[in-house]
Amino acid sequence: MNLDEYRGVWVFIEQRDGKLVDVGLELLGAGRDLADKLEVELCGVLLGNGVKDLSSTLFEHGADKVYVIDDPVVEQYRTETYMKAVGDLVRKYKPEIFLYGATANGKDLASAVATEVMSGLTADTTLLDVNVEKRLFEASRPAFGGNIMATILCKKHRPQMATVRPKVIAKPEPQPGRTGEVIEETITLKEEDLRTKVLNIVRNAKKAVNLEEADVIVAAGKGVKDEKGFQMVKELAEVLNATVGASRDVVEAGLCKHEHQVGQTGATVTPKIYIAIGISGAVQHVVGMQNSELIIAINNDPDAAIFNAAHHGVVADAFEIVPMLTEEFRKALQSESEAGGVTSHA
Ligand code: FAD
Repeated sequence: MNLDEYRGVWVFIEQRDGKLVDVGLELLGAGRDLADKLEVELCGVLLGNGVKDLSSTLFEHGADKVYVIDDPVVEQYRTETYMKAVGDLVRKYKPEIFLYGATANGKDLASAVATEVMSGLTADTTLLDVNVEKRLFEASRPAFGGNIMATILCKKHRPQMATVRPKVIAKPEPQPGRTGEVIEETITLKEEDLRTKVLNIVRNAKKAVNLEEADVIVAAGKGVKDEKGFQMVKELAEVLNATVGASRDVVEAGLCKHEHQVGQTGATVTPKIYIAIGISGAVQHVVGMQNSELIIAINNDPDAAIFNAAHHGVVADAFEIVPMLTEEFRKALQSESEAGGVTSHA
């Protein structure tokens, strides 16, 4: 393989029902940075039916080019069609780096394309960089149970590919009016050639707990100890109109369901305010909440690691301070709404 033939940074742009999935725009931000360092173009790869017009949003978020396959056969994601179409594009245009969102479809496609074009893939990366001199993509992810960050290189094959978790990278500010080039491509597969048919799409019921979309999260750690302590956290969350989060230990103790868990094996969250109560700050928890705008930690151990991630720290017994905070917020918000002020608690 002649590695020098491969140039450019690509991002797989996921769409559902003709609407862009945020992670694609987030990756255009990260991809722009890599492309600028390497002095190459940033390209989006967009497949769907009637999706060509979405390209303008991609240009505004940093893409220089968009490769579009607009065909009913790729309206819905299917491994067979997407792998063939994306694999053909890779063989034809030879990108050096290719990023995918670590969504269900993104993970499925990235691993299928990796086998199709015989290249490597780093899954679930959280940090992206590049060694410009060697043109080596540096994809980092937690390893060994999150105790170390491993930087994984793909030295002998191209493209160098990675999936990246949604919400790990901030969406770039759009630049209205920024434009680029649309390159329309076709797919050779026909519906009748395919072994899988989409007969019906059944959506999951809306998630009861939507941590990813929450503006304010009040999260409980093992320091809240039991059902009564967890209830105390829930009361504070209720007053603040916040969503309840939890560490894995709290979920494993049976105090709440896994859908509340924040961290490496739970949700990655980016609220405006994250209040961590009785959470030690293990790396596996912190990777899931470190991009919150404002982190407030309450812990009775002044050396707790959570204080390294927090913007404000309170060294106190949660059982003393949390009920006091709940009461004070309740009073303050009540008088605010009586005075006709803001009623949205965040
Ligand atoms: P602890 O570490 O037990 O911390 C409790 C904290 O409460 C302590 O800091 C203590 O000082 C404080 N405290 C005690 N009493 C009080 C009090 N009265 N007032 C105030 N503070 C008090 N963890 C996650 O959270 N999310 C994940 O997704 C996740 N994924 C993992 C994946 C793997 C592969 C592995 C190996 C681990 C994972 N973990 C995850 C577990 C993680 O390593 C920690 O064990 C866990 O986060 C610890 O939870 P905790 O902070 O609630 O409990």
